[in-house]
Amino acid sequence: MLRTIDLRGIRPSASELLALVPRAATDVTAALNSARALIDDVRERGEAALLDQAERFDGVRPAAVRVPADELAEALESLAPQTRAALESTIARVQAASAAQVPAPERTELGDGAIVEQRWQPVGRVGLYVPGGKAVYPSSVVMNVVPAQVAGVRSIALASPAQSAAGGRIHPSIAAAAALLGIDEVYAMGGAGAIGALAYGVPGIGLEPVQRVTGPGNVYVAAAKRLVQGVTGIDAEAGPTDILVIADDAADADFVAADLVSQAEHDELAASVLVTDSADFAASVRVHLAARIAATKHAERIRNAVAGRQSAVVLVDDLEQAADFSNAFGPEHLEIQVRDPDAVLARIENAGAIFIGPYSPVSLGDYAAGSNHVLPTGGQARSAAGLSAATFLRPQQVVRYDEHALREVAPVIAALSAEEDLPAHGEAVSARFER
Ligand code: NAD
Repeated sequence: MLRTIDLRGIRPSASELLALVPRAATDVTAALNSARALIDDVRERGEAALLDQAERFDGVRPAAVRVPADELAEALESLAPQTRAALESTIARVQAASAAQVPAPERTELGDGAIVEQRWQPVGRVGLYVPGGKAVYPSSVVMNVVPAQVAGVRSIALASPAQSAAGGRIHPSIAAAAALLGIDEVYAMGGAGAIGALAYGVPGIGLEPVQRVTGPGNVYVAAAKRLVQGVTGIDAEAGPTDILVIADDAADADFVAADLVSQAEHDELAASVLVTDSADFAASVRVHLAARIAATKHAERIRNAVAGRQSAVVLVDDLEQAADFSNAFGPEHLEIQVRDPDAVLARIENAGAIFIGPYSPVSLGDYAAGSNHVLPTGGQARSAAGLSAATFLRPQQVVRYDEHALREVAPVIAALSAEEDLPAHGEAVSARFER
């Protein structure tokens, strides 16, 4: 069961805190050789390699890698009405919240006739990976596609592994979600080969290379994303999921237990961490946790996840120390369930997404909040952000100086080009005033 780390009365450094609750080891480095071979195979043999890889890893050989349009339309027609309604509701919320992530263009006047504009250009073509190994996630289609569409991406290709249970087709709910979003370029391919196909293209099937690959996936997908960087942009290398809950004795112990369990349901390597200043509250969470795990479907997986070294109850002196611990951990999902959540929020620096109060559980964010559920794992929240419209946008500066404005800064350019021994730089300016 969840182990206890008692930090009361001690103030470890950030690195010592991290060592206390290490993330589960997923060795991306060890998967690199295998991923490289799979990508090379796709570059050499194109579709034949992708079909062989599906047969080998997904246990089925699709009829073709490109999913025909009528298969997408049929999947949407066959989608259960309640699933369709739920997806439509999620799409509308994610669209609305993603629109707020598109920055407005700015125009900065640095002097008379001296203007630097900033505009945000969408990436032209992107490849979105939707996992489909152990479980299928139509919600991830929404979370990948919507921000790209909101950002104004012109061309979107979607990849997801062939399913043996679906006779080599992609999962029908993924096909339906793609159709619902108007995506018609879909490929039945998975793992490292799929990432390679998106990055390098597959001429034989009309798959043009993309400029950015996004989406979660297993360790082979993460390794492949690392390998194709430089050829194409990526979002982040996803690892096992995590939740960190900061709670005090005003929180509802059963709600907290339910949220720790829900995250552990993803994966045996998932981390569920409770940080609290109340030992009594922690004890109460343990009681609810045991009852909930015993009663839920994926009990075995959850038991393993909470028993792992990546999961813990951390006892702290106060909520300031709780926030410090959380900042060191850099959770993918952070819940704040305390009397004054805004006071804790003010101290939070690193988190993928933050859920405030008893009625904002992480599973709300997984499906229906309107926020994005593709978030930085493994502590990457210390430097990275989750998927958003901004993932698909690039700031571009546009420079507009007139003659007067250039003349004003000409001495600056002359001085710095001389200092850097690049006289032609200065001459490019002086040439304009020598006539
Ligand atoms: P996946 O689609 O990432 O991986 C399946 C593919 O892996 C297969 O098609 C195959 O090509 C490849 N593969 C399998 N075994 C291999 C081997 N031995 N060697 C080389 N390649 C191999 O699906 P998955 O495995 O279910 O993993 C999905 C991951 O994504 C999970 O960890 C899940 O928790 C995570 N996920 C995260 C989010 C998020 O938002 N962060 C959302 C959904 C899923």
